[in-house]
Amino acid sequence: VFVCVRDRCWSYLGRQSREQAISLRKNGCLYTSTVQHEVLHALGFAHEQVRSDRDSYVSIISRNIKPGKEHNFLKRQTNNLGTTYDFNSVMHYGKYAFSKNGQPTMLAKRNPSLNFGNAHTMSNIDIALVNKLYQC
Ligand SMILES: [Zn+2]
Repeated sequence: VFVCVRDRCWSYLGRQSREQAISLRKNGCLYTSTVQHEVLHALGFAHEQVRSDRDSYVSIISRNIKPGKEHNFLKRQTNNLGTTYDFNSVMHYGKYAFSKNGQPTMLAKRNPSLNFGNAHTMSNIDIALVNKLYQC
């Protein structure tokens, strides 16, 4: 069972049984991006940077990752439903996520100075993924 924890905002990945809780604390979670992020986990979506095709788009800088946090960067066998990798996804972590030294833990391959992981709302590709997966 995978749980996303961002300052006590959390969700399970995918359907667990019947009804399903998402934790959104009043202090720190009630932003459009966080609510959408956690709901997308419940709908079955993982973090963008673990997509099966991520190695074509991001470099993971392991030496900058806090010990014990490496699992956040393990690639998964995701079903990308024909969409392209999306740095503007609300599911993308920032380039300094889990850094132990203030240096980036991820860099965009085509443009290492690109900033990402600051989406305020779902991207068009995020929306397309939900519509494709649920055939809306
Ligand atoms: Zn998450």
